[in-house]
Amino acid sequence: KSFIDYQLSNEIVNALEQLGFKNPTEVQSKVIPLVLNKTDLVVKSQTGSGKTASYGIPICELIKWEENKPQALILTPTRELAVQVKEDFTNIGRFKRIKAVAVYGKQPIAIQKTELKQKTHVVVGTPGRVLDHIERGTLSLEQIKYLVIDEADEMLNMGFIDQVGAIIDEMPRNRITMLFSATIPDEIKNLANQYMKAPTNIEI
Ligand code: AMP
Repeated sequence: KSFIDYQLSNEIVNALEQLGFKNPTEVQSKVIPLVLNKTDLVVKSQTGSGKTASYGIPICELIKWEENKPQALILTPTRELAVQVKEDFTNIGRFKRIKAVAVYGKQPIAIQKTELKQKTHVVVGTPGRVLDHIERGTLSLEQIKYLVIDEADEMLNMGFIDQVGAIIDEMPRNRITMLFSATIPDEIKNLANQYMKAPTNIEI
């Protein structure tokens, strides 16, 4: 398998080349075609498997540059992961000029408000701060087509799962939802049943 097999645009292929990604990892070879086909997914996989790019590559491919409002929302349990995922989107989307913004607690909200006022394609954030922006009206979910819940079991351990549900309740229904987790406890299964449309289950 090679990235050429997915019929990705030149902008994405060139970015992967620059990143030194030659062949897709196992999770990437399973996830990329399903996301390009707009399928909901529950993926059981560990960090270090290349899972960020498994959703980052197809989401960057599908994003329309012209749209001013955010098209993808990635929820992460920690600030560190939010910043990392934002950087990965910036790298993969470099030649499409995709703009990603990270929002998380502890950073002054004013800085993030200013960023979110500009054209933004991808928002990556921790649940509490994302909800805060939604409630203040500084983050529009109107055009969100892609939702990723990353490290869902960590989200559960940290007590964020109700906030995740509250965010999804505010989102448009015509979206695809991808959930990634190292383990799939019952609470995560319930979340998937409640908010996803016949998800495909993938285990790495
Ligand atoms: P992740 O599991 O998303 O944290 O990714 C783990 C590491 O693998 C990161 O440093 C990525 O930059 C790198 N990586 C992801 N996909 C590939 C690939 N197809 N080829 C080479 N390295 C990759």
